[in-house]
Amino acid sequence: MRRSKRLSLYFFVLGFCTCLILIALVRFMGGLEWGGAEPAKTATFHKLGQCPDCKVISTKHWQIGRLKDNNDLHLESARRLGINPFPTNKAMEEELPGLLRRGKLKELEEDADTYRLKNLTHSQPFLVPKAVDLLEEIGERFHQKLKDLGLPPYYMMVSSVLRTNESQQGLGKRNSNATRNQSSHIYGTSFDISYKEFLPEHGKPAPEGYCRHDLMRHPLAEVLTEMSEEGRCRVVREVKQACFHITVNR
Ligand SMILES: [Zn+2]
Ligand SMILES: [Zn+2]
Repeated sequence: MRRSKRLSLYFFVLGFCTCLILIALVRFMGGLEWGGAEPAKTATFHKLGQCPDCKVISTKHWQIGRLKDNNDLHLESARRLGINPFPTNKAMEEELPGLLRRGKLKELEEDADTYRLKNLTHSQPFLVPKAVDLLEEIGERFHQKLKDLGLPPYYMMVSSVLRTNESQQGLGKRNSNATRNQSSHIYGTSFDISYKEFLPEHGKPAPEGYCRHDLMRHPLAEVLTEMSEEGRCRVVREVKQACFHITVNR
């Protein structure tokens, strides 16, 4: 009797341990498949014209407006909602901490959900909070459109943000567009989003000769059309810089 009791105790312990090991194993395997949630993001570059995602975009009819708000409209919104422009880069360095602390400006995130910053040479990644909200909403609506088409989320590429009068002039040397009129970029209300390049999830820009997913501009342009009709923003499609220049309007 004693012996059989001991035996059943052994079996119980053995069974219990086996169960634990099995549970651990199942969880581990499951973790590999789902819990990991970080599938290997390997770069797949498609030759120009052979990208399946761009093909999906090209087969749909898009409702895109003119997107030609003139500079006066941008400036009107910028002066109403923006900061006092910085005369020099040095002045910006000095005043920036205070403006950030008081919530007058916000820094754009390095790893935002819907956009990435390009290499900003003549601008700094700061905007008034309303413009940050606008950028984020554009991104969310853009991603929703891609999702509706069954496409993965592509990052928008932000190519210019806050400039000072000094950096604006530096730009003027290379770019006649910038000097002709004052730019709304100096008010922290405007940003540029490239329409020539969108970044897939794996985060590496496509090399020359491969698809840079510029057809993603169609769903983006449709979002911008909707939002400018809603009065949220001013938009102009800039041909030279291959970007949408966008200013928050409310
Ligand atoms: Zn593509
Ligand atoms: Zn611009």
